[in-house]
Amino acid sequence: MPLIAMLDGERVDATTHTPASWADLQASEDRKRLVMPVCNIWAVAKTRGQATRFFAHYRLTDCGVDHGGESPQHLAMKEALARGIGAVPGWRAVIEYPHPSREWIIDVLAESDDRRHRVAFEVQLSSQTPADYFRRTQRYFDSNVFPVWLVPRALEYSPVHLPVVITGFGKTSEVPENPADILDLEIKHNLVLEQNTLGGFVTDLLSNGPRWKPSTPQKQQADRDEEQGRRIAAQLADAERIAKAKDAVEDMNRHSMAPERTFVPHTVHTEAGPFVWATLTCCWKCRDQMMVWEAWSGRPGEQYSSAPQVTVKRKVGPRRYQNHPDVHQAVDTWIVRSGAAVTKARIETRSSQGKGESYSAFVCPRCRALIGQVYVAQINAEHWSVISAPLLQKI
Ligand SMILES: [Zn+2]
Ligand SMILES: [Zn+2]
Repeated sequence: MPLIAMLDGERVDATTHTPASWADLQASEDRKRLVMPVCNIWAVAKTRGQATRFFAHYRLTDCGVDHGGESPQHLAMKEALARGIGAVPGWRAVIEYPHPSREWIIDVLAESDDRRHRVAFEVQLSSQTPADYFRRTQRYFDSNVFPVWLVPRALEYSPVHLPVVITGFGKTSEVPENPADILDLEIKHNLVLEQNTLGGFVTDLLSNGPRWKPSTPQKQQADRDEEQGRRIAAQLADAERIAKAKDAVEDMNRHSMAPERTFVPHTVHTEAGPFVWATLTCCWKCRDQMMVWEAWSGRPGEQYSSAPQVTVKRKVGPRRYQNHPDVHQAVDTWIVRSGAAVTKARIETRSSQGKGESYSAFVCPRCRALIGQVYVAQINAEHWSVISAPLLQKI
């Protein structure tokens, strides 16, 4: 139910009429020249009940323009908003403001006297698809008008945020005799304002600005697309890193061998010395062979009939048992006794770039390339053998 009709190019506002002046208009010769805004279809001045005055298309079927809602509640809400806006110093309300494109009509436009600030109040009492909300909201932002949706109840969830006021006032609500009473409704909204009545909200919004952070639907969508692009790129990079790491582990296993398979099976037996397992692997960088090892301390005075299965730690701190003098001695003894021409890897302390923690690592004795402990830990058990243990001498 539009509130505005045009008479010889001038706006006729139904809300400014009294019952008597409305009756005069209905009886006047002017009535024959009243047309609906934008579509220019002949407009008829009508009355519903005592208080409701509005215009209707003489033939609605000929109209292709979206004039907005048609219910008495919609009309009362528009009138209330216009009054609320009109009460704010420096602002004026234009009911049913035709957008310059002539394609749509803003329910109630609030315009500052200097014409620099404009807020569109759109009353949406019937449901509307999220896509239509986004499209219409974007249309306002594109026209430099800040939009506010007035809806009866919360919209369905959407990742795109729109400026929304939930009024509780819908198509079946009772229309107050004085539409301005609607300004007293308690509301909920998602703007950075503290007001909780519709009237207070309108005043605060116009006086202090909308302070709306989420930006336009298009920008929000673009940001989300960009974020998703970044996520996918990160996932691809992860996948590539994982594939590379897997290749490195396979490469390491291909080039690792248990000392007992290369040389004569030989274990150094000690009284209470450590268990030492070793593998002959090669540097991923210079391809030189080197020996790396894992070690556990045995219990003093105890000897064992067999060595446990090797388990290599994935993480080691700066003080690692593999670097203990007893362990070095055991490894050196094995190399001397077996006569194997192998080189021990070095153990050096490094600090991680990201966390600033220091840790120790095997490094290539020739090129000093770091042999990551996670890779050492993934050398299969078959490529390790015991080189020193507190074992009972086998006879
Ligand atoms: Zn029309
Ligand atoms: Zn190397």
